[in-house]
Amino acid sequence: MHTSNLTSGHYPDLQGKVAIVTGGATGIGYAIARNLIRQGMRVAIGDINEEAAWAAATELGANTVAFHLDVRLRESVEEGFGWVDKTLGDYDLLIANAGVSTMQKALAITDDEWDFNFDVNTRGIFLTNQIAARKFVARKSGTIVNTASLAAKVGAPLLAHYSASKFAVLGWTQALARELAADGIRVNAVCPGFVKTGMQSREVQWEAQLRGMTPEQVIDDYIRQTPLGRLETPEDVAEVVAFLSSDAARFMTGQGVNVTGGVYTG
Ligand code: NAD
Repeated sequence: MHTSNLTSGHYPDLQGKVAIVTGGATGIGYAIARNLIRQGMRVAIGDINEEAAWAAATELGANTVAFHLDVRLRESVEEGFGWVDKTLGDYDLLIANAGVSTMQKALAITDDEWDFNFDVNTRGIFLTNQIAARKFVARKSGTIVNTASLAAKVGAPLLAHYSASKFAVLGWTQALARELAADGIRVNAVCPGFVKTGMQSREVQWEAQLRGMTPEQVIDDYIRQTPLGRLETPEDVAEVVAFLSSDAARFMTGQGVNVTGGVYTG
């Protein structure tokens, strides 16, 4: 089976435009930023880990900058996005990708764990989308892609709080898309499955502990559940995000597009 990590789609309409990628210091966000640079975009990586964000920006080259961003805080989002406007010019694309997960049995989830998942995953989408969308509506152009999850479509055991926070992301994405369609703003989401990132390796360790398995057994289980027969890569997701960002997806809005290797087909 072909498992190349190379992205292949090319979308000339993205050339020269400016994107903000939240949570772009690592994992899926980093792969998204790299693919957008490849499309000829200028990219600002906003991340709570500013040092890692700058390291990523340096790796990605001259068309990339980084800024400190905490998506949970309105002031941080306003300040960061305002800085991007001044530094790279008006941004055209928001990739709201920052997210966290913790694993826990539903009956043991604490209030703090619940709030942590909702503050980053749900409130973070609300704040970043609202602040970008106000600008996009005033200008009558702009595109938003949110990172949701397979866990936004199917309640995931040991991730009930995470699942609930991601279901909310899809509800928000659908409603916002319908409100903003008349202004020519498209809002979509991508729903990855089990992607090889730092988040996944933390989840594999937790799941192995909670289910009394080895990490290797947990990963084998994932692969066995995946019709396309391998673990998902960040580049698999980045490919679909670039498409949704481009005019090639001009008649798509309010969608939660599954990128799961066939694990979920609804
Ligand atoms: P990751 O942990 O590798 O990266 C997440 C990034 O978000 C990190 O750089 C982190 O510093 C940043 N971040 C965390 N809190 C933040 C905050 N408050 N403000 C700004 N930045 C913050 O994780 P990933 O696997 O690349 O996940 C990216 C997105 O994809 C998340 O929304 C996640 O829920 C989603 N997702 C991941 C998987 C998977 O299997 N890895 C599956 C489905 C969905």
